[in-house]
Amino acid sequence: MNDTERDLVVLGGGITGLGIARVAARAGWPVTVLERDDLVTGASSATSHMLHGGLRYLEQGRFSLVREALSERLSVSRLAPTLSRPVRFMVPLRQGDRVGPWRLRAGLTLYDMLAGRTAMSPHVMADARQARTLEPGVETKGLKGAGLYTDMVMDDARLAIAVARDAAAHGAEILTRTELVAARPDPSTGRQVVEARTRDGGDTITRRARLVVNATGAWADRTRATVLGMLQPGASDPPRLLRPSRGTHLVYPALTQRHGLVTLAGDGRVCFVVPFAGRSLVGTTEVETASPPLEAQRRPSADEIRYLATEVARVLPAAARMHPIAVYGGIRPLLSAVEKVGEASREHRIVEDGPLLTIVGGKYTTFRVMANDLVARAAALLKLQVVPRDDAGEPLPMPPPDGPDHEAFAEHAIENEWARTLEDLVRRRSSRWLADDRGLMAARRMAPVLARRLGWDASREKDEIDRFEASVRDELLMLDRTLATR
Ligand SMILES: Cc1cc2nc3c(=O)[nH]c(=O)nc-3n(C[C@H](O)[C@H](O)[C@H](O)COP(=O)(O)OP(=O)(O)OC[C@H]3O[C@@H](n4cnc5c(N)ncnc54)[C@H](O)[C@@H]3O)c2cc1C
Repeated sequence: MNDTERDLVVLGGGITGLGIARVAARAGWPVTVLERDDLVTGASSATSHMLHGGLRYLEQGRFSLVREALSERLSVSRLAPTLSRPVRFMVPLRQGDRVGPWRLRAGLTLYDMLAGRTAMSPHVMADARQARTLEPGVETKGLKGAGLYTDMVMDDARLAIAVARDAAAHGAEILTRTELVAARPDPSTGRQVVEARTRDGGDTITRRARLVVNATGAWADRTRATVLGMLQPGASDPPRLLRPSRGTHLVYPALTQRHGLVTLAGDGRVCFVVPFAGRSLVGTTEVETASPPLEAQRRPSADEIRYLATEVARVLPAAARMHPIAVYGGIRPLLSAVEKVGEASREHRIVEDGPLLTIVGGKYTTFRVMANDLVARAAALLKLQVVPRDDAGEPLPMPPPDGPDHEAFAEHAIENEWARTLEDLVRRRSSRWLADDRGLMAARRMAPVLARRLGWDASREKDEIDRFEASVRDELLMLDRTLATR
């Protein structure tokens, strides 16, 4: 085998592609990940930050999905002990809600039962007075009581980067800001010749893969059509697999004292208030997008921002007097389904088109299950053996704490975590984007480190700072303008 030969070339550096690379690399397979942008620029850094079974999937009768995700909740949190923690969630019940106390109690009992041996603290029901004592900020008008249960909260972007580091530590090659430019079969070897170009320097790299894996999330339909068009010229476009859906979150200063909240919105949808890094993440929405999403559809809309601000103020009245400090959106790679988009299946699917395997659907919590399924399918095709390993006892390489030494932090992230811009450092390698100044001061301190490490001149460094500051300014302006007309 020469140094360009791979068992797998994985397209997409979100949690799905990185999870697959990790399983393959740990089995000793040569594997390359090609990510066109930074790692986790898609949905994997825009989640509700929960490792969870998904209480609301119980309403859809998806018990096996919930059981599997509950078991993964514990396994993944053991892999990432400093990037995840248990959080007690409160579900307030009020007059007129579509779910009453008996239904909630039954749901939480089932949730505990499905968790089985992996259960954390069991649920309890509280009356209105107890609920008020536990979370004094919750609206008291119409409050009948609450249910309390435990789930895990995680740092989505940093956990995925830790998965990438583990894959790399086991030999995976991870190339970011590298775009696929060509793919063709080589009949003499049975391999697929994959060519990609780095976005900055324009270098072309070639890898010869036995299988190509499409793990490009909400862009998977387009990637599948493009790669098949290259590998099988003249073939007609495959039918779409996805019905992507944008979800938006607002970030507030901490709105609750100790708990996360799960609330039934006025329109019957579920909203979360998730305590994370001293802030409250308020989400989420479900807005169907095209497949692939148009560039403009990646950004949260004014309607979603107003909707979330209204919903959170309905449940936590103090939020009406507070201003969100940030907003973010991401696109779920949901399977095409006949149901409404909010009810579309979170299960995953693997589709085989000769040497191209496409993986779609799923959720962050079950990334190990998806990775193991994909690698098992690839092993069957390649007639390779994968020895199943319980990896839960071997934690991922954890990042250093998010301390005040910005320069040392930047050195580490550039050296070990593929960071190449201020946005990578502030938004996807740390919680600095949640600081009061949105990471502006940290960015100014880290820019010279980037410049020195990446060989930038003074004007390139200044451009980088300007670009970062402009993106923060635009986001804040959008929040101000939207909420001024609330
Ligand atoms: C609002 C929201 C909230 C969510 N909350 C939760 C939650 O709390 N818990 C949970 O378990 N799940 C949650 N999810 C679901 C979870 O985020 C996704 O299922 C998961 O992150 C999908 O990961 P992915 O790697 O498949 O896709 P992505 O993370 O989108 O990654 C795809 C990657 O492919 C890259 N790419 C695209 N095209 C190409 C190409 N041609 N070549 C190379 N690279 C390419 C993109 O740049 C991107 O980095 C949430 C999702 C959203 C949107």
